[in-house]
Amino acid sequence: MKHPVLDHKIDPKKAATYEKAVERVMAMSEQEMLAFMPERHYARFCECPKCYGGVQGYEVFAWRVERPEELKCKFCGTVVHPNPAYPEDQVMSGKNKLGETITHRFYYNPERKMQHFFTDHVAMYKRHWLMSQCRALGAAYQATGKDEYARRVALVLDRIAQVYPHYAVMSVGGMPVRHFKFAASQNPPYRWDEGKWGWHAPSDDMPAGVIECYDLVYDSPAFDKLSQERGYDVRKKFENDFLRDTFAAVSAHPNHVNNYVAYLSVAAHIGRVMGEPRFVHWAFHWMKQNVYAGCFYDGMWHESPSYHYMTTSGLRSCFESVRGYSDPPGYVDPTDGTRLENLDPDKDVAFWAKVRHAPEALDFPNGCSTPVHDTWGGTRASKPRDQTVSTILPGFGHASLGRGAGPNQMQAQLHFSGGYGHHHLDNLHLTLFAKGREMLSDIGYTWTSIRWWTTSTFSHNTVTVDGKDQAGKSSDGDLLWFFPDSHGVAVVEADGQRGYGHIEKLDTYRRLLVMIPVSDADAYVVDLFRTRGGSVHDWLLHGDADEDMSAACSLPLSQKLARMDAKGVKAYELMRDVQSAQAAEGLNVTF
Ligand SMILES: [Zn+2]
Ligand SMILES: [Zn+2]
Repeated sequence: MKHPVLDHKIDPKKAATYEKAVERVMAMSEQEMLAFMPERHYARFCECPKCYGGVQGYEVFAWRVERPEELKCKFCGTVVHPNPAYPEDQVMSGKNKLGETITHRFYYNPERKMQHFFTDHVAMYKRHWLMSQCRALGAAYQATGKDEYARRVALVLDRIAQVYPHYAVMSVGGMPVRHFKFAASQNPPYRWDEGKWGWHAPSDDMPAGVIECYDLVYDSPAFDKLSQERGYDVRKKFENDFLRDTFAAVSAHPNHVNNYVAYLSVAAHIGRVMGEPRFVHWAFHWMKQNVYAGCFYDGMWHESPSYHYMTTSGLRSCFESVRGYSDPPGYVDPTDGTRLENLDPDKDVAFWAKVRHAPEALDFPNGCSTPVHDTWGGTRASKPRDQTVSTILPGFGHASLGRGAGPNQMQAQLHFSGGYGHHHLDNLHLTLFAKGREMLSDIGYTWTSIRWWTTSTFSHNTVTVDGKDQAGKSSDGDLLWFFPDSHGVAVVEADGQRGYGHIEKLDTYRRLLVMIPVSDADAYVVDLFRTRGGSVHDWLLHGDADEDMSAACSLPLSQKLARMDAKGVKAYELMRDVQSAQAAEGLNVTF
């Protein structure tokens, strides 16, 4: 098999540029360069002990190859390492898979009860820098054919094969406080916050970046020469002790349907570069699973429009990584019993074409995704439209009654999905779009300290029961009716009772929307929300999330209260300037 197998987009005309890019690493001795590959697992997160600036020890420090041992805080400017004020005089020990004792040193701040692994954090920057150099060296080799560049890469890959089996599986913890600990088990599958080569399972243990370097220099005589020096086959050792082990660790996970699928393309690359078709079949199987099992039958990813686009963008590069692939002659995969021949994902995964554009069915007339669940408001996915009709994603659980042309396009959307990750507690939520803007909004995705409000039932245009949030999981609504256009009238009704499955004796929770035109330009919406059971029903309308709105009520209202009586309901605490009235006789509110 001729290498490189992958398309690295190397331009031989730029040979001088590629050579210039590796001058620094080539000026190092081989020993100096290899010292950049850590002997132990690096520490992914590290806080500044002076100011504790930034978030969760994530990219708090500036690091430069000119001063490779130094960590300088981006927030307070302190060089925290090396620094006698923060000595790494504490020791943490544990065992790797081989049973060897591995020791990490750290500085301990008793006030914060926090460990700081500076040396191991420096190791992360060093390894990342070294791998970026390998990529550049591989490109320089491809452009010039000079074996000295390939030798450097072969040395680094051989170094990886030497150190990696001795790495311990480490855990980094979740939010809000990260840690650095030996994982409870050194055997795969690793927990989500653990890794041996990486730190986030399963995706980060797939050696992205490394396999591309191997492909770039695979055919170089440098490997054969180094094998003679070492007395073993350097390629085989790297494949067996590193590539196969990382693949085994990742593939030990039972499920690979998730919204960060790009690592499946790395698995396919490993299979293609090593000539191991089993790996390609495994990767392609999980790519297809993300399409067939990760999406509802209407093509919508199971979480939200924003996560739909994040996942399908990863899947797009996954499918490119196997496009045109053929198994070696005579190969039949022992697991799936098939052969892959000139693979064409567009043909072989026909549903993929539907999946790619699925959320567009619910787009507002201005081309923005409906901001349901964790979807960023204002995400523009399609071109603005001239005409709107009623649409539905029945698998996801969202209908849009629509009508009108140009500036008179209008939508009343009824949401009745369940919760499958990145969801909100939002069954039977109503979104209204008219006159070129959202009039009743969903706030969508936020990363704020009151994110709990944006996901709660109370922040949605729906009915809350007894001051409680809906359940989220196992809360799928049922579509009862959907008439997209009956002489201009559109109707949808859904049952959302499972959302309040935890309220005893709630026997009715359903919403009917009817859109009725009065002219070419205008229509009104009848909203019939039926709730029976529980004692308090709050019917909530929140207005526009982008612009201020006002509303006038036909009933005489009470004195303004600065805050609502919260009665132990957290969401009520956010209700300010509250006025009330008895509404037994009915009322009008003009927006
Ligand atoms: Zn600082
Ligand atoms: Zn929402």
